[in-house]
Amino acid sequence: MELRRASSLELDGGTPLHGGTELVPLLRSGIVQAETLVDIRGVVPRGIDGSTIGAGATLAELECDPQIPDALREACRLAASPQLRNVGSLGGNLLQSTRCWYWRLKWPCRLHRTSDGFGEECFAQEGEHREHAIFENGFCASAHPSDVAAALVALGATLRTNRRELPVADLYRLPSEDDRRTTTLEPGELLLSVELPQTDRSVYLKAMDRKSWGFPLVGVAAARTEGETRVALAGVAPIPWLLEGSLDDATPLPRNAYKVDVARALVKRAVSSLEAS
Ligand SMILES: Cc1cc2nc3c(=O)[nH]c(=O)nc-3n(C[C@H](O)[C@H](O)[C@H](O)COP(=O)(O)OP(=O)(O)OC[C@H]3O[C@@H](n4cnc5c(N)ncnc54)[C@H](O)[C@@H]3O)c2cc1C
Ligand code: SF4
Repeated sequence: MELRRASSLELDGGTPLHGGTELVPLLRSGIVQAETLVDIRGVVPRGIDGSTIGAGATLAELECDPQIPDALREACRLAASPQLRNVGSLGGNLLQSTRCWYWRLKWPCRLHRTSDGFGEECFAQEGEHREHAIFENGFCASAHPSDVAAALVALGATLRTNRRELPVADLYRLPSEDDRRTTTLEPGELLLSVELPQTDRSVYLKAMDRKSWGFPLVGVAAARTEGETRVALAGVAPIPWLLEGSLDDATPLPRNAYKVDVARALVKRAVSSLEAS
């Protein structure tokens, strides 16, 4: 495998590598294969300038910057461990893969491409799914693991890439029989920065199995602007979930209905904390 440094935003077919906290383990386990890795740290903007955040900013930088809205700061602070947050970038966080253990253990499921094509089964449906999705879980029940993505969706943030501008929510797509991708990122497309609109107040609450270094069982971001509140959740659907309907619309699997109750409690707390402050 070749490793080179990017000198421009054109990667010529190479796989982008930023902090490597997600990509390196996937390469090691053989889930991702790459002939050429391109270190993009020199070409992807980093740093925070008012409402613009470079996709190369680390989560550690975001969690302590007073310019960053509370929901995003808290989502970063509650993610991973201090060591990982010092290295892991915003862009890499938004593009992290599912934590579904069947996928990580290379079971030939619907999101796994083998030499014979994609698998035909979602093993989580009948198997272990305590941490899996409670919305849109019929084809693939993976639960999106990014606290940061949920916060950005609630905040109504926009993403700039080397090809286009799009709402952060539109970076994600539900996998289907015809197209198994969970993002809309095109080959060679690089995340460059995030633009945050003005919000009055925001908050992020997270339920996890232990007090630190845990992926969200349920994460709830809420942002309020001019009397309107947007709520987005992590850990409840294969993509960051903008709560447009009600939690009564959830379709939990037999052993993860508890997530609906957790989500309900966190949404109630998040929304009332915005109303109270
Ligand atoms: C043990 C552990 C616990 C964690 N816990 C949490 C948690 O609780 N909550 C949470 O939200 N996250 C969690 N994470 C995820 C962590 O935040 C990410 O691994 C990290 O942010 C990824 O950033 P990176 O720079 O290391 O990405 P990399 O590993 O370098 O890249 C990740 C992916 O993104 C692509 N990529 C990176 N940057 C760009 C870019 N600018 N444009 C296009 N493609 C790009 C890479 O090609 C790769 O596919 C955890 C990770 C670990 C390992
Ligand atoms: S939840 Fe998704 S990633 Fe996990 S086994 Fe099912 S299809 Fe595969």
